[in-house]
Amino acid sequence: MFRLRRRVYLDNNATTMVSHPVRKQMNYVLEHCYGNPSSLYKIARNSALILQESREQIAHTINAAPHEIIFTGSASEANNTILKALAEHHYPGKKKIISTPIEHASVMTTLEYLQTRGITVEYCRIDEKGRVDIDALEKQVDEQTFLICIMLANNETGALQDLAKISGIAHNRDVPVMADCVQALGKIEVDVRRLGLDYATFSAHKIHGPKGVGALFVREGRFFSPLIHGGHQEEGKRAGTEGLHNIAGFAAACKDVDKMLVKSQKTRELKEYFVDELGKLKPGIVINSPEAGQCLPNTVNISFPGVSNAVFMAYLDYNGIAVSAGSACNTQEDAPSHVLKAIGLTDEQARQSIRFSLSTEITLKDITYVLKVIEDFLHREKSPISVVTPAQLNENLLMDPRTYLLDIRFGYDRKILSSLPNSHEAAFVTIHKYIDQIPRDKNILVVCQAGYNSPIVSYYLKSKHFKNVGFLLGGMVAWRLLHPGLYKKLGGQNVEKLKAGGKR
Ligand code: PLP
Repeated sequence: MFRLRRRVYLDNNATTMVSHPVRKQMNYVLEHCYGNPSSLYKIARNSALILQESREQIAHTINAAPHEIIFTGSASEANNTILKALAEHHYPGKKKIISTPIEHASVMTTLEYLQTRGITVEYCRIDEKGRVDIDALEKQVDEQTFLICIMLANNETGALQDLAKISGIAHNRDVPVMADCVQALGKIEVDVRRLGLDYATFSAHKIHGPKGVGALFVREGRFFSPLIHGGHQEEGKRAGTEGLHNIAGFAAACKDVDKMLVKSQKTRELKEYFVDELGKLKPGIVINSPEAGQCLPNTVNISFPGVSNAVFMAYLDYNGIAVSAGSACNTQEDAPSHVLKAIGLTDEQARQSIRFSLSTEITLKDITYVLKVIEDFLHREKSPISVVTPAQLNENLLMDPRTYLLDIRFGYDRKILSSLPNSHEAAFVTIHKYIDQIPRDKNILVVCQAGYNSPIVSYYLKSKHFKNVGFLLGGMVAWRLLHPGLYKKLGGQNVEKLKAGGKR
């Protein structure tokens, strides 16, 4: 089978590699600045200084004042903080938040939660590229509206919103604007004043900084109340001893934002070249992202008609290429991306879509390699792994002694759905520890919860020279839906837990 050895990371909207200057600064802080920034003695004063300088750096990067920055444990926390604070402050006098149907989960699920507490959430109209219909939005603003919450750049498609215009409209009606700017920072200019934002949220790990630290911009004079109560850190706005190494790493990453913006023009060109070449390889592909100018320079979401993204991603992974589907896995429901659905894709089209998100370090050589692998995948005559549909996996196949069912789900998924009868349970992330127990003379059928992890393990087994390997399309979720009777009758019977590291 065709296989080149190179690693290409095209999932930079999920997270980014920690840069060298960031690591250096974090190591320095870990080694030398263990003092608590709130303490008064000399050992701690350097920590307080680093905290202050980091705040100044981050403020400078987004054109805010240092006292307008609050450090948090993540952008998810920052999003939760603002939404919950404003809802609590305004309810029941005002009840309405206007948002979009394509926000990140940390906004979407918080809005869902707030709806259970009496808040009304209205999602504004977006076009087929995910761009907000601003005229329609303007008409939605009424005296009940206490917040407009719209992300600057979408994580799945890269769609950008005209927040300067939206803020203008909102402020005419005295409504504040909150923007999730997590994906925008480092890819396009983010100037909270030019955009007219009242609240904005950021995350270090999307700009080559560390995971576990976010920042919240609250414009001077705007309402704020803390989510986390306790000590007086962050001027009483966010309790908890500061993760100084993370904060300093965030600031170091921000120092390089200007360089990232300069390099992003090249990233945009590489992305456009990639998309053009893909169009030649498979003329029917559909680009779900907006045109340049209305899209992040590094992001493109593409549907490949007739191609299951689970199988495609597994093949790319097998060849060292990391991409994402923007679709949940290991969840109770095999839910396709809410963003792609909101811009009009069917479930099937969403399951044929892949997000490629480049970094400024990606080279033409990387892209050429990725194109070669994709060409091989799209034009190959026979897949090295077989795909078994839920309909094919009937009682006969389940009970066939030549079938070896390998269930690689997580424990919490097994609590939701029992395993297929005669399954052998192993853990997905440590599958290499079970390899000696898996028979080589049988037809291995890998099963996961929703059909996303099993192709990856199937390719892994293939690379270990297992002859007949396949996976269950749509996983346990799809199989149970089609065979409720069989599931009730046989689910969970005769299941064996494989022992990690054990010999057969
Ligand atoms: N908002 C957007 C648009 C994101 O892409 C992400 C991360 O995936 C977040 C918020 C959450 O960031 P964090 O991982 O810091 O909680």
